[in-house]
Amino acid sequence: MSPPGRPKGEYRSAKRGGSPICARRRAATKRRPADVLLRLRDIFGGNPDRGESRLRRIVIAGRDVDYRLVRARRRSIGMQIDLSGLTVRAPRWVTIREIEETLTERTAWIVRSLGEWQARRRDVLPREWKTGAPILYLGRELALVVHPARVPAISADLLNLTVLHPASDDEQQVAAFVARWLREEAQRMLTPRVTEFAARITPASPVVKLSNARSEWGSCTHKGVIRLNWRLVHLPPHLALYIVAHEVAHLVELNHSSRFWSVVETLFPGHAAARRALDEWTALLEA
Ligand SMILES: [Zn+2]
Repeated sequence: MSPPGRPKGEYRSAKRGGSPICARRRAATKRRPADVLLRLRDIFGGNPDRGESRLRRIVIAGRDVDYRLVRARRRSIGMQIDLSGLTVRAPRWVTIREIEETLTERTAWIVRSLGEWQARRRDVLPREWKTGAPILYLGRELALVVHPARVPAISADLLNLTVLHPASDDEQQVAAFVARWLREEAQRMLTPRVTEFAARITPASPVVKLSNARSEWGSCTHKGVIRLNWRLVHLPPHLALYIVAHEVAHLVELNHSSRFWSVVETLFPGHAAARRALDEWTALLEA
């Protein structure tokens, strides 16, 4: 029997939490008005969990499972699984033994969710910046081809991302050169679309910035600043475009009300399918 007041475990796989467009977790968006979330994030710049965190290990179903334990101000034990693995949030007064009991009770869910996330992991950027390494560009997995050349240049076709560079065997230099190019591509592809969409719904012209966030594809502030993640260049172009439409729609509706979604639909007809498809790509943000 559990003693009274024992924390109940609550758990979720981040996969079911939806796509991080404006708010990282859809569940949180449901509980609080989205504009509040947006403003809080503007002020605090992101993750509300600022408790201490430690890496621990537990044996579950005969295998070692590492998890990050975050001591947080909360009343129950929460578990979340995403690309970075298992995170457990618990109040300070809960013992490690109680936490591990709760984890053990959830063995089936933990094993299944970890497996699902591992299967979704894919190479976004090369681990080694050498010819043959996979790189994800506009939703397609291309093979990197690196050649020495006096003048650095990059070009992409259906199969390859070809990099010409004077220091072609210096992986760091090649990586930095490609990273800069990807950001420029994001800017070049997305900024005109923001202007186009915005012109259809508001006389204001938004400020567009690129972000490097790990938690969201895009955001929009009450001052009309739209931030778009440069990693959108990894996505199929129509999904990146949906995110642009989504953020632009926030210029006139800084919430996720039905009015907001009808503005999105005006800008990007059939947005619901794109929203669903985006779930499949969300893990890329943390890859
Ligand atoms: Zn939004």
